[in-house]
Amino acid sequence: MTQPQNHTAIIGAGIAGLACARSLAAAGRPVTLFDKGRGPGGRLSSRHLPQATLDLGAQFLSVRDATFAAAVEEWLEAGCLAEWPTSLWSATDDGWQRHRDDLRRLCGTPCMSALTRHLATGLELHARTRIERLERDSREWWLVDAKGGRHGPFTQVVIAIPSAQARALVAPHDTALAAACAAVIQRPCWTAWVLFDAPLPTLPGVDDDWQAVRLHAPALRFAVRNHLKSGRGDQGEGLTLLANLEWSKARLEDGPETIAEALFNAFQRGLPGDITLPEPSAMGAHRWRYAQPDVFASGEAVNVDYRLARNGLALCGDGWRGPRIEDAWLSGHHLGDALTGGSSAT
Ligand SMILES: Cc1cc2nc3c(=O)[nH]c(=O)nc-3n(C[C@H](O)[C@H](O)[C@H](O)COP(=O)(O)OP(=O)(O)OC[C@H]3O[C@@H](n4cnc5c(N)ncnc54)[C@H](O)[C@@H]3O)c2cc1C
Repeated sequence: MTQPQNHTAIIGAGIAGLACARSLAAAGRPVTLFDKGRGPGGRLSSRHLPQATLDLGAQFLSVRDATFAAAVEEWLEAGCLAEWPTSLWSATDDGWQRHRDDLRRLCGTPCMSALTRHLATGLELHARTRIERLERDSREWWLVDAKGGRHGPFTQVVIAIPSAQARALVAPHDTALAAACAAVIQRPCWTAWVLFDAPLPTLPGVDDDWQAVRLHAPALRFAVRNHLKSGRGDQGEGLTLLANLEWSKARLEDGPETIAEALFNAFQRGLPGDITLPEPSAMGAHRWRYAQPDVFASGEAVNVDYRLARNGLALCGDGWRGPRIEDAWLSGHHLGDALTGGSSAT
């Protein structure tokens, strides 16, 4: 296919790739997204079971930056976000305590991927297209997918995927970018989901409206009551359980059934009081091989939250800034500004 001049390809339609794409599109620049998944979303993906919709990656977003806060207002207006959780708890030695801070938190409605689907609206996206190789032809770039399809030519290629995967794409073309990717360690995380036919019992010392709790167990760091999120209709009681990163790393090759059982047992043990939970009606687990970046892995603070090379290759995503949705979005947004000559404060 012949593309107009200045056409940008973006590999990865997670929140970072989409933020970059929207900045480019807003400046009138042609942009095409490629994602190996069934649709946009990446780590904001949700699983739709007959009896429940479950967020298996990010559970909510939090807001610190003013530019991100303005974008959040637009998404609230569009109806794809809602304030959540409003009842957050922490496990302490004295039992569960209500967690209070001034941070604003919101989740996607009716599921986390509603936000990325909203951001992808009107953009050209090739889903189910895993890009395996980049080819350079004179001054232009071509993308080769897993089925041998060749896409291009493009003047610019933005790679908005976890750094370990980005490294494989850039290594044959740019040793400096490959070295930068190698310095970012992206750690794995297991997430389990557990469904019940009966509601959870009242926990001693805990209000019945609890929506999420931070835990300090060896296996488990966070538990979320998925069915209490905005837009979940009348689906039954369902938990999402996020494992600790070190625990996940040690059990990376275990089966999902074993992991789900272990995390459910860890949750049961972490409950305040002598409580027995109802028997789960279904459970499962999902492995995120590149879940959370450790951006200071190289020992240096990162002062630019994307990478842009003269040869037309660029990198963005949470690995270049920090471990949250806000970081990933800002990285992609700032790269979009840099590519279009716009300005934004980091
Ligand atoms: C379990 C878990 C819980 C989390 N909880 C929170 C939370 O509560 N709050 C919060 O703020 N953040 C949370 N995060 C972090 C947050 O999800 C990420 O920081 C953010 O989503 C990263 O976005 P991204 O666009 O950089 O990458 P991704 O979302 O990973 O997007 C990359 C995309 O690239 C695609 N891709 C990869 N390789 C290729 C290829 N070769 N060809 C084509 N496509 C490719 C993938 O399919 C994916 O869609 C959590 C993450 C995990 C895993």
